[in-house]
Amino acid sequence: MTKIDQIETMILDIPTIRGHVLSMATMRTQTAVLVKVRFSDGSEGIGEGTTIGGLSYGAESPEGIQSAIETYIAPALLGRSGDDVNGAIQLIDKLIKGNRIAKTAVEIALWDGLGKRLGLPVSQLFGGAVHDRLPVAWTLASGNSETDIAEALKMIETRRHNIFKLKIGKRSVREDVAHVARIKEAVGDAASVRVDVNTAWSLQDARWGLKGLQDAGCELVEQPVPARYRRAMAELTKGYEIAVMADEALNGPEDALEVAAALAADVFAVKIGQSGGLKRASEVIAIGQAAGLGLYGGTMLETGLSTAAALQLFSTVEDLAWGTELFGPLLLTEDILADPIIYRDFCVEIPKGVGIGAALDPDKIEFFRRDGGRTMKAVVGE
Ligand SMILES: [Mg+2]
Repeated sequence: MTKIDQIETMILDIPTIRGHVLSMATMRTQTAVLVKVRFSDGSEGIGEGTTIGGLSYGAESPEGIQSAIETYIAPALLGRSGDDVNGAIQLIDKLIKGNRIAKTAVEIALWDGLGKRLGLPVSQLFGGAVHDRLPVAWTLASGNSETDIAEALKMIETRRHNIFKLKIGKRSVREDVAHVARIKEAVGDAASVRVDVNTAWSLQDARWGLKGLQDAGCELVEQPVPARYRRAMAELTKGYEIAVMADEALNGPEDALEVAAALAADVFAVKIGQSGGLKRASEVIAIGQAAGLGLYGGTMLETGLSTAAALQLFSTVEDLAWGTELFGPLLLTEDILADPIIYRDFCVEIPKGVGIGAALDPDKIEFFRRDGGRTMKAVVGE
């Protein structure tokens, strides 16, 4: 039996290429928790757990993710079979409530290790890829309309992106709608324009906002109101033609079922970290498909590592009608992968190779790591 021998975690702080202005925080650095699992046959798997803006986006912080892994998840898994990924997922779900991003980081490393030992990409473990590339959006979040327009036009010209998501919700609804209208007018039919409010609006704000956004030619609004306002989401979904997407409201398959049953979204933003791993994300996808909803491959602005893992799963999905936003590596000043993820012709390519299809650049890891890393080992004879 191939056992789980060691689990190492470390925190990486990587600068972003510009300030990323969100309704709840401005990011100038992205912090990723890296996990390395070493197996008894000498094989290794890598994973990542990343959130947005420290504790301003969700309930898990990078430091909390690392602590949950080393204090609770690793001791439960050390000495167990490395090939029994489902068994590991079920055990950890029984022992540990919530902490989905921490669970995801370890699960990715287990899938990666299994794929490498079998000589297969992780997509094959989910039945096989049906796409070799997927459309990829870019987020305009400089906080300035002129800068955003220049950035959008450059992206269209270089054929990198023709789907733009605008981060709004920090200013008044009126100012935000005017900002979106200016950008849509500048890009015209050459690009799709969408917005993410990151829960910043009340229902009253959202009624005005959706009306204005719709008139401006914006196609989709992501999480306009707080995650728990399911009835407000249902009213907005029913009341306007513009598509309403659930993001913060979707923390795993149970939420997906409730949102679908409440008719509280047109589209699911599926995030592997927020779902609790690749397996749980595949369940969120299945619920969205069964409910006839649109699907979108979301990101927590992860590095190339977790982006590669997400691509392995999303490549197996029949129809991601709204594409993906897996541009995380492009927001960072440097990629931490030896062979960066490829972006071209408005798409992101599914990485080739075994496991998640990603290898770390050891010099970059050494440069960006916050501390010395922490390693937990299996007790001999366990
Ligand atoms: Mg979002």
